[in-house]
Amino acid sequence: MKGFAMLGPNKTGFIEKEDPKVGSRDALVRPLAVAPCTSDIHTVFEDALGPRENMILGHEACGEIVEVGSEVKDFKVGDRVLIPAITPNWSDVYSQAGYATDSDGMLGGWKFSNIKDGVFATRIHVNDADGNLALLPKEIEPAEACMLSDMIPTGLHASEMAGVTFGDTVAVIGIGPVGLMALRGAVLHGAGRVFAVGSREKTVEVAKKYGATDIVDYHNGRISDQILEATNGQGVDKVLIAGGNAADTFEEAVRMLKPGGSIGNVNYLNGHDDVVFNAGDWGVGMAHKTIHGGLMPGGRLRMEKLAQLVVNGRIDPSLLITHRFEGFEKISDAIELMHHKPADLIKPVVIC
Ligand code: NDP
Ligand code: ZN
Repeated sequence: MKGFAMLGPNKTGFIEKEDPKVGSRDALVRPLAVAPCTSDIHTVFEDALGPRENMILGHEACGEIVEVGSEVKDFKVGDRVLIPAITPNWSDVYSQAGYATDSDGMLGGWKFSNIKDGVFATRIHVNDADGNLALLPKEIEPAEACMLSDMIPTGLHASEMAGVTFGDTVAVIGIGPVGLMALRGAVLHGAGRVFAVGSREKTVEVAKKYGATDIVDYHNGRISDQILEATNGQGVDKVLIAGGNAADTFEEAVRMLKPGGSIGNVNYLNGHDDVVFNAGDWGVGMAHKTIHGGLMPGGRLRMEKLAQLVVNGRIDPSLLITHRFEGFEKISDAIELMHHKPADLIKPVVIC
């Protein structure tokens, strides 16, 4: 098979590899469309995970099944499927404990482009096919289906973790594609006022379409100052973090959070950094301000349910897709775009 890989730190390119072997519970899928993620950029160019050599990148795709293992019950060759970025081992005890993303070790549910070859390949190996794949509804076109691999489940997970509920005032730090889906998740969970923190015109325009009531540009002073002022010093009930870095966003989030409030972080921080915030802003450790951080949960049931949000018009993923490429070999152009993030970019997709 052919794949677009991280050859080593800061180096990418196409490589040839043997087709993956299909175990009894696995499936092999040919991609219909794939999309690069900011996480691919953190991995290749920012040493966020540690070194990887000749590892095929990518974890956002949909495709058509070309082979299934002997024990796969619910999928067959020719089925068009949604492929989640996170493909846990559903037999692991961590899955039984409710933390499937940490099956096979901490963050071990994240296999594609982390501990095995990713989806930027002409053949995609999916472990535990019955547990991880979901049928691609006919109403969803392949480019939009790619938004169900990672952007929709990750963004929504931020609002789930924070526990957004009716009438909450919510701040969303970072409104790239993940933050935009976090914002949409907050709106769907019944948030009242929603602050979107970002600066690029294109993302601000889409944030308003997804339901942001207020826009905050983090270049115009401290985020917490701006939001505390806008809320008469009250602050917010929930903060969703999907951008910025460990050193400055948590400080802002804890500072503007009301006592009893909570933070849902889905930002992929650099493993070499410290998370910093002031103990006084945390009520000297006693103000019941809670920080949650998580990988997007995978799983077939969740994917099927999230697909219903798209099919029934609750989430319009087309607003996220600003750049479309045709042809597998265009993956390198899409990664390049993601690396340099022009102002008009939200998300590129490659139709294979
Ligand atoms: P983008 O780079 O597209 O968006 C980042 C956003 O953060 C932009 O809106 C940007 O603003 C804003 N931002 C940048 N610096 C700051 C700052 N100092 N303070 C406040 N806001 C800031 O990223 P994505 O949406 O693609 O991804 C977001 C994060 O989610 C990434 O770290 C990614 O790796 C991670 N991720 C996590 C997953 C999980 O399962 N937990 C899965 C997928 C992704 P501006 O408008 O100026 O550009
Ligand atoms: Zn990702």
